[in-house]
Amino acid sequence: MSSHILVLGGTADARELAAVLAARDGVRVTSSLAGRVTRPGALDGDVRVGGFGGAEGLASWLREHRVDAVVDATHPFAEAITRNAARAGAATGVPVVVLRRPGWRPVPGDRWHPVDSLHAAAELLPRLGRRAFLTTGRLGLASFAHLTGTHFLVRSVEPPEPPMPPDTRVVLARGPFTVPGEKELLRAHRIDVLVTKDSGGAATAAKLSAARELGLPVVVVRRPPLPPELTAVPDVTAVLERLGRAAPPTPPRPPDGGAADTCP
Ligand code: NAP
Repeated sequence: MSSHILVLGGTADARELAAVLAARDGVRVTSSLAGRVTRPGALDGDVRVGGFGGAEGLASWLREHRVDAVVDATHPFAEAITRNAARAGAATGVPVVVLRRPGWRPVPGDRWHPVDSLHAAAELLPRLGRRAFLTTGRLGLASFAHLTGTHFLVRSVEPPEPPMPPDTRVVLARGPFTVPGEKELLRAHRIDVLVTKDSGGAATAAKLSAARELGLPVVVVRRPPLPPELTAVPDVTAVLERLGRAAPPTPPRPPDGGAADTCP
């Protein structure tokens, strides 16, 4: 008997999971992408692109395509799709497993300033520095657009669009990044404060080590809470256990070795 798993994606973890599931006998995997990124990279299994039309649209899709389980492997800050997955799961009875890599933890020497939102990060920022490295994704730039006295170095996968702060320099890049590379970037742009979401994962963690080594403050935006009816597991192996399947001893690497998210 075959089963159909829908993976809500847009992250490196989702790509890895799709590769593992697609390699299994009797499993059909469909990855779903929001469609924000022009070149999302190859994915194993079937792929669909674009919104479902809210929780009701997702519920209809699950019924129509006879989905047996949903894995929400979206980015920890993609709140709306996770809320929709919870609702659609409740409406259809299709189980929803949430894959969330653990958040980052500060270590001695870190100068972290945790905040609850991008808005709060923008409020705090002018008190910490005047030249900020902003890695919160191009869609979050609007929260900082009113800050006229701060120079921003913005890194994103796709070119950002206004609104954005008036004094902004953009670098287009996709991880993984290295500590020496991040230190060089911070030094070259005379950065005195870093702003990041608590995305977790190794691919983009080097900036935190670089900031620590240079003694820079870091504004860390905390993750939004999961809907109460959902609980998260930390990795692909745990997802497979939740789905009731034994994990392979060594999961295959994702097709392009990609370790960074398909950041919107
Ligand atoms: P969001 O605010 O949670 O979602 C907004 C809407 O986009 C959803 O209601 C849904 O539309 C659609 N959508 C989102 N993810 C989808 C998916 N995987 N498949 C189909 N439709 C999806 O999400 P977001 O923060 O804009 O992020 C968009 C995508 O980028 C996510 O898939 C996420 O994994 C990835 N990403 C996000 C971040 C981040 O910082 N937010 C970083 C890296 C990657 P409908 O209501 O019409 O279904």
